Amino acid sequence: MLKQIPLDEIKYILLDMDGTLLDLYFDDYFWGHLVPEKYAEKHNITFGAAKELLFTTYKSHEKTLNWCDIDFWSKELHLDIPALKEQIRHLIEVHPHVIDFLKMMRKHRKKIFLLTNAHFKTVKIKFNKTQIGKYFDDVLCSFDVGHPKEFIEFWQKAERKLKFDKEHSLFIDDTEDVLKTAKEFGIRHLLFKARASSKAEPKKTEKFLTIHDFRELM
Ligand SMILES: [Mg+2]
Repeated sequence: MLKQIPLDEIKYILLDMDGTLLDLYFDDYFWGHLVPEKYAEKHNITFGAAKELLFTTYKSHEKTLNWCDIDFWSKELHLDIPALKEQIRHLIEVHPHVIDFLKMMRKHRKKIFLLTNAHFKTVKIKFNKTQIGKYFDDVLCSFDVGHPKEFIEFWQKAERKLKFDKEHSLFIDDTEDVLKTAKEFGIRHLLFKARASSKAEPKKTEKFLTIHDFRELM
């Protein structure tokens, strides 16, 4: 474990899913390639035009619950988003050393919670492919909470629901804005996961302690 993270004092491990535990390449490919491709076919426009149009649409829903709601996107884009995700399920991968880390935390009797902005249908597809669900004591989707993780209300409700003690919690996420809110709420130990996608450069932060690989925590 990193010396800045005192494992003995930590009772709760709070984890983000996409980019932190799972390879963000799946999501990047899905929204950046597969969806524009299918949208272009459907509306008989070029891939480039579809991409441009969709990126503007994505941007306008960032940090909202719509962003996390795949039923919203199915309706908005007239595409069957869950079915398309299934089509490329082979790209859903767990990052290296994540399973070993989860097993080790269970052995140390830590409570492990998944806190995700992903929709429960997406979580289901990803759990089916990776079998990672069995390591969590509970899973909380921001869609069920009513606020994305970037908002303090998410954390207030998550604390009430999961009954974690923020003074004795470690939270790991690959989105800086989410960590900022978690910090503001008072989660004691925070880590930024820099390598979100296996096929992109690691992300950078100046504000948080960083890991690239879960091996660094073992
Ligand atoms: Mg993430």
